[in-house]
Amino acid sequence: MEKKNPSGTYEKLIDKTASLAARWLTSLPDRPVKGASGVEELRTTLGGPLSERGADPAQVVEAFAEGATPGLVASPGPRYFGFVTGGALPASLAADWLTSAWDQNAVLAIASPAAAATEEVVASWILDLLDFPPECSVGFVTGCQMANFTCLAAARHEVFRKTGWNVEEEGLRGAPEVTVLAGEEAHATLFVALRMLGLGTKNVVRLPGDAQGRMELGAAKETLEKISGPAILCLQAGNVNSGAFDPCADLIPLAQEKGAWVHVDGAFGLWGKLLSELNSHTKGMELADSWATDAHKWLNVPYDSGLAIVRHPAAHRASMALNAPYYIAAPGEVRDPSQWVPESSRRARAFPLYCGLKSLGKQSLRELVERNCRQARLMASLLQEDPSIRILNDVVLNQVLVEFLPAGKADDGTFTPLVMAAIQKEGTCWAGGSLWKGRPVMRISVSNWSTTDTDIRISAEAIRRVLAGTNQPPA
Ligand SMILES: *Cc1c(COP(=O)(O)O)cnc(C)c1O
Repeated sequence: MEKKNPSGTYEKLIDKTASLAARWLTSLPDRPVKGASGVEELRTTLGGPLSERGADPAQVVEAFAEGATPGLVASPGPRYFGFVTGGALPASLAADWLTSAWDQNAVLAIASPAAAATEEVVASWILDLLDFPPECSVGFVTGCQMANFTCLAAARHEVFRKTGWNVEEEGLRGAPEVTVLAGEEAHATLFVALRMLGLGTKNVVRLPGDAQGRMELGAAKETLEKISGPAILCLQAGNVNSGAFDPCADLIPLAQEKGAWVHVDGAFGLWGKLLSELNSHTKGMELADSWATDAHKWLNVPYDSGLAIVRHPAAHRASMALNAPYYIAAPGEVRDPSQWVPESSRRARAFPLYCGLKSLGKQSLRELVERNCRQARLMASLLQEDPSIRILNDVVLNQVLVEFLPAGKADDGTFTPLVMAAIQKEGTCWAGGSLWKGRPVMRISVSNWSTTDTDIRISAEAIRRVLAGTNQPPA
């Protein structure tokens, strides 16, 4: 930049950007949830060749915001129920802006003492919140996908180490066989992680699920009894469709007796542990060897943020360690952030977590999780008043599975997707589709700090109104 007065440039740019951001944030409760434009239209608006000469930053950002806004989805808003999507707590959003302004490299403590110290503090808060052993190690990653990868890398290290095989040095060629077990309902990202770790997906022993998508206890026990040699059992806390929990209390001790490493994918369900009324579902998960979770889901920090938590720091560290002559390792007890994650140079992802958690405190975080669970039950009960709506899961957490029934004719499987598309188009709320036990369903996930009971009522009304409009019996 040629400007002699960069601070003046920043002021104008940042004021402009803040007002653009404020306009977006205040529009969230009222704007149609679905974006107005699709990718094709946006390609035209935003596209064209990169020009030879540059332009004023404030003008560039303003024009970009104008071009991109029609393609924005109000997913941080209160009536977005798609996937499992958190919003952004005000304090974590503000801290995320600072994270970019500060532009710290959270690679080594020496590169940013603030980033390193904040990770340490947040890690201790996370372990305390979940009532996990304080000696667990925590890696700050981009999401549960990379958390699954990181935890399973630690698992791979440890199960091989016990056989005398150094997998980081030797690789997998000629390595002993490892048995990987996962539920029929395990999340797709788990298999991506296994793929990246060279463990493959074809030979994973799939354990059957019950009507709620929980691992079936009897069948799982029987299979676990038979395992010998290195093994990794992958359990799930919070089925991505139904919200159901695998029976951790029964299966973890049994698997560990057999020498297996037990990993829990708890992208959002891990936070069910904050509620004592969910004890019957969550109990035993604290016995696992590793846990993957998201922060951009129920902790409501902006994308992207996930946590890999490992009971055995030595295995975690050995699987991720980074060494180079110019990397100056922190002395003694100081923790270098990149020794616990796959990345080297990286964003100081703990800053938004720090401010988000601190602004809530333990009690409000519990209340957030409790409220969303209650709102999911409210949504289910409001929808169920309509005889053309069936709720297919026990609403134990924040997830509701909805099936729409066509009036006066048999359902050939096309009606639920049809109604869902009409709901998305109508724009009061947004929910996505899935397959549940082979049937198309609409999934509702309530995971946002700003969702009110009124939002649930407005959304349930809109869903029923759109259904009634679609559900005209044949004349
Ligand atoms: C969302 C989710 C993931 C993947 O998380 P990302 O944030 O997309 O990386 C993994 N497992 C479960 C159960 C999930 O719900």
